[in-house]
Amino acid sequence: MKNGIVRQTHDEWYTEMLQVYGNLNKATFECPACGHLQSIEDFLVLGIDSTRAYQDCLGRYVNEKGCSFSVDYDDCSPKKIRVIVTGNGHEIKVFNFI
Ligand SMILES: [Zn+2]
Repeated sequence: MKNGIVRQTHDEWYTEMLQVYGNLNKATFECPACGHLQSIEDFLVLGIDSTRAYQDCLGRYVNEKGCSFSVDYDDCSPKKIRVIVTGNGHEIKVFNFI
């Protein structure tokens, strides 16, 4: 936690979300740029890849909501994201859940 960023394995992250929300579809993430709150379910309902719910602001897909932030392309405060290490060793940046 040298630079304050939370790093977790995918399993740790998944388990923590399940503990907080019970149902992962209810997991709600905050856009690091504009603060828009969005759940996995919001993305599912709109037919958007739900793995983007913690990587892209909904505004990338829906007009007049949120902003166009994507954790893959845009920089933000490290306090507002986590780094998740997947089973094959890849690291992905994800929005914090609330
Ligand atoms: Zn946003």
